[in-house]
Amino acid sequence: MSVLLTNIGELVTNDPVHGGASEPRAGGPGDGLGMVADAAVVVEAGRIAWTGPASSAPAADVAVDLEGRCVLPGFVDSHSHTVFAGDRSAEFAARMTGEPYTGGGIANTVAATRAASEEALRARGRALVREMLAQGTTTVEIKSGYGQDVATEARMLRIARELTPETTYLGAHTVPAEYAHDRAAYLRLVTGPMLAACAPHARWVDVFCEPAAPTAFDEDESRAVLAAGLRAGLLARVHGNQLSAGPGVRLAVEVGAASVDHCTYLTDADVDALAGSWAGRSGSGSGVGHGSVATLLPAIEFSTRSPYPDARRLLAAGVPVALATDCNPGSGYSSSMPFVVALAVREMRMSPAEALWSATAGGAAALRRDDVGHLRVGARADLTVLDAPSHLYLAYRPGVPLVAQVWKDGARA
Ligand SMILES: [Zn+2]
Repeated sequence: MSVLLTNIGELVTNDPVHGGASEPRAGGPGDGLGMVADAAVVVEAGRIAWTGPASSAPAADVAVDLEGRCVLPGFVDSHSHTVFAGDRSAEFAARMTGEPYTGGGIANTVAATRAASEEALRARGRALVREMLAQGTTTVEIKSGYGQDVATEARMLRIARELTPETTYLGAHTVPAEYAHDRAAYLRLVTGPMLAACAPHARWVDVFCEPAAPTAFDEDESRAVLAAGLRAGLLARVHGNQLSAGPGVRLAVEVGAASVDHCTYLTDADVDALAGSWAGRSGSGSGVGHGSVATLLPAIEFSTRSPYPDARRLLAAGVPVALATDCNPGSGYSSSMPFVVALAVREMRMSPAEALWSATAGGAAALRRDDVGHLRVGARADLTVLDAPSHLYLAYRPGVPLVAQVWKDGARA
């Protein structure tokens, strides 16, 4: 059965056929987004079958009148930690008010996640993915990293795999307290038995590479984690350069990681390395098999009251930028891609078009996915319908529930 979505006031496709770019050009609203005014989309068998002006749309079995609303590719949230247990709202409140807090930070989440039943973890993860879908996110990546023991890491990933194909083994999130005096032993666990138990449920391996944080991992440790994951058939991504201009970007480029996430503190050499990782590639808009994307997570800077990454510096150097939520119970518990887009525009001076591209096509590139993040013919029919006439409203009306409908694999979600 084919479905015609018609009377679309503004359609964003990221499709070069309609002027979409492999990266958005700075210059004006919508530049590079492959926009069509007064548009229609035909969906068939879960895929995009046709896009263009409504006046020339082919016939379909069913027609849906979208009454002038704006339609976007579903958001691709390429970085989240949405399988966990526990509550850290008091930690957040203390951070905001400058009160001392001794609640344990991430160790609090690790203890609660280890103690939680599989059903409780699954229910929370499911609820968060549903919450994301309601805000227009149709593809989400989910990491382990709150188990930090073999059984709990594997349990987190089994549950994550029920929710998304984009699952990431992050045993090397932090060194748990019981290994604080024997980091080498924890590294052997992460690269040995824990990896073996987790790899069947994961697509990606990740590491929190941050020498400035005593419980995170330095360059050599991070390299060992990524190398072990790659040997096990996983693809690499890196948490790097969040708190200092550390080795994360360098390492990510060295191992061919799809993305380095945070990128708050970068040297000129880091920016050059990220740009260089894309040199000589043709811009198909997909990013599949390409270099390392810089994934920015401004909801974290918001929720930790920290300086934002310099998005303009990356864009000026030609580095593809993705935006993601990093939804997690500690440093930032927002699941909202529209909020992230608004932050990117207000706080990082990305244009609304750049921010939307980064939240869709950029996220797809960060996951090396060619079938999402755009509405080219053949793409997954994952669409977000805004109760607004244009994509500008995402940043123009922050905090407002603008998502009217979400379509996932060609069906109303
Ligand atoms: Zn993270």
